[in-house]
Amino acid sequence: LSIKDLSDLQKLAVVGHGSSGTVYKVHHKKNQSFYALKVIFGIRQQPTLEAEILKRVDSPYVVRCHAVFDNGCSEANIENGSDLSFVMEYMEGGSLHDVLRAHHRLPEDVISCLAKRVLEGLNYLHGLHIVHRDIKPSNLLVNESGEVKIADFGISQVVKGKFEVSDLQLEMGTCAYMSPERVDPERWNGENADGFAADVWSVGVVMLECLLGHFPFISPGQKPDWATLICAICFGDSLEMPENASPEFQSFIRRCLEKDWHKRATVIQLLDHPFVNRNSCGSTRKLVDYVLPR
Ligand code: ADP
Ligand code: MG
Repeated sequence: LSIKDLSDLQKLAVVGHGSSGTVYKVHHKKNQSFYALKVIFGIRQQPTLEAEILKRVDSPYVVRCHAVFDNGCSEANIENGSDLSFVMEYMEGGSLHDVLRAHHRLPEDVISCLAKRVLEGLNYLHGLHIVHRDIKPSNLLVNESGEVKIADFGISQVVKGKFEVSDLQLEMGTCAYMSPERVDPERWNGENADGFAADVWSVGVVMLECLLGHFPFISPGQKPDWATLICAICFGDSLEMPENASPEFQSFIRRCLEKDWHKRATVIQLLDHPFVNRNSCGSTRKLVDYVLPR
């Protein structure tokens, strides 16, 4: 399939508003298929990297990008001078954030399958030297079949050697899933981290949030402020674990949320973890039961 012209796409609805732009559900008039169109305005540097990454990645665990349109070098223009547009596979179930908002919490078997897919995705990305840097519920998208895929490379980096510490994005939403070595590089030897371990930390926070039904580190209902959050991430040593969490789940979370990134489990180690391999992700209840098609 090739999408040659933005004008073949008809905007149907806005499905997401992010820090960088707007995401629409669109209909391709010629091939009668639906896609997601992410339109980014303004600043050029990072969106260009996002486009490069999206063009390079090809995995069942990462949201597929079918075309990139850049106003700078294309005559196609969907409306009022947008800068950069990505045509992506449409994920009917929305994001894990939407799923959690609707269902509050998920059972361990579902989280196990979810963790497996996200780790497979990270394994693929890390193999290409791509550090995602923004793993959180709103960047994990779900399709009609309940498959989860990693999306949003808006603040990702391609690393060759040392992890470049960047404070491009320090708003609360993103900071909440940040590892100690990113929140406080001085204390946690962040300058020497390669960034891969920070993605593992975020996986731990997300999976714990799925079981707890609220963001970990702060009490439910508490409005998180910067200081409380940073203190909890960097210094807090008691993790709130759901009472009935299985030993495998608890062990998985502790391996992800190890504050010292040298000691934290790697993606490869976690793919071997009993929690991730406890069920074949077809026979038990899957995420598909929790998806609300829109
Ligand atoms: P931002 O960089 O602005 O956060 P995202 O790529 O994360 O942009 O997209 C913002 C939101 O739009 C997502 O949280 C999701 O709800 C929705 N969205 C993004 N891509 C898709 C897609 N391919 N299919 C369906 N919804 C999507
Ligand atoms: Mg996002």
